[in-house]
Amino acid sequence: MGVQFDAYRKHVSGTKPLQFTPTLELDIIFDALDGCEMDCPGCFVNTKNKFTTHDLENIHRLTQEFKDQGIEANELFLGPTDIFDAVNFDQLVDEPLFDKLIEQYAALTFTSTMLTPYEELKRRVDKLMGMMAPYGKRFELFVVIDIDKYIDNDRTYLDHFDRNLEIIKNIDVRLKKQVNIFFIANFYPEMFDRVSIDELNMMIKRDYGSKFKINPSFARATNSKMIEKQCKMISDLLQNQVNDNTIRNVFLNMVDIYFGGDTFHALTYTKGKLYVAPFLYEFVPLTTNELEIKPQKDGRFYMSDVFRKKEELAIEQYQHAMTLPHCSSCNFLPNCVARNHIQFMKQHKIANCVVPKPLYRTSFKASEY
Ligand code: SF4
Repeated sequence: MGVQFDAYRKHVSGTKPLQFTPTLELDIIFDALDGCEMDCPGCFVNTKNKFTTHDLENIHRLTQEFKDQGIEANELFLGPTDIFDAVNFDQLVDEPLFDKLIEQYAALTFTSTMLTPYEELKRRVDKLMGMMAPYGKRFELFVVIDIDKYIDNDRTYLDHFDRNLEIIKNIDVRLKKQVNIFFIANFYPEMFDRVSIDELNMMIKRDYGSKFKINPSFARATNSKMIEKQCKMISDLLQNQVNDNTIRNVFLNMVDIYFGGDTFHALTYTKGKLYVAPFLYEFVPLTTNELEIKPQKDGRFYMSDVFRKKEELAIEQYQHAMTLPHCSSCNFLPNCVARNHIQFMKQHKIANCVVPKPLYRTSFKASEY
């Protein structure tokens, strides 16, 4: 048995008071990390990335503009790679403006395979935690788990993985902060050949006391045929394997139709450019021209341009949906427009429904999925 985290219990039994549910929120996926040697199954991330102080200034200013208008800066998601394996980890954490940026957000989220050599991983975790300790915010760590090796009980992998997890055991106690640790894996077609999604959830709950989440990394690829195929596979799989009894075991905020919709301003900032981030199982950092928000002549990004872009996208999507027989008469169309699914379908010339809509729920609370 590995290290036990208590994210599962918190997410199943905890309640989220209404006053803590923001009516409008800003979430930014900030591609500040560079380089990753992990080669995880199903990964389509371009790991080469350079950020500059100018990028930090840009996001800091834009975030402040949202906050000044009363929009909660909720989550700063550091991407695109494993934070503890990134080549520029120290450069980023030592940057004074980075400190100011995370201060603006309620939560800092990052991903790690937890496979970096033990001593180096420990040094990096301690350094990051030391920097975060003064702030009253929550942390979310997505631990990437290799499902095949986990099911095979590959001891070479698991012994190293479990030993490294000891480093983050009780960091919530150390920091006196809410720390959510979830397990995640990129979706790939053979993923559930040997184990059902419910069995996998139960195994991770038993072994780590945590929840498991599917990451749709394929949505970042460029091969439209493959994307359409995998969208259908993941949707069919969920519809076949998840029912009213098991749905609460699955960490699937996709089925909460309000999540990722109109009240969320989700943006991706990468290589000096800003994009609207569609929500498809997760906020997906796509970098297509159609999603790009252009800077003004002074090189800065403004909130009004974000709103304008979102309006343009909504109009274009309603127009395109009228050409799609399944979508034009669907009750969930406003939700799919708000999540930018129709734009995604247009880009990849997909005509059929891309989501598991029979599982959609209108009465889920955040604490229930
Ligand atoms: S993608 Fe599916 S759920 Fe969304 S509008 Fe089209 S048919 Fe409805």
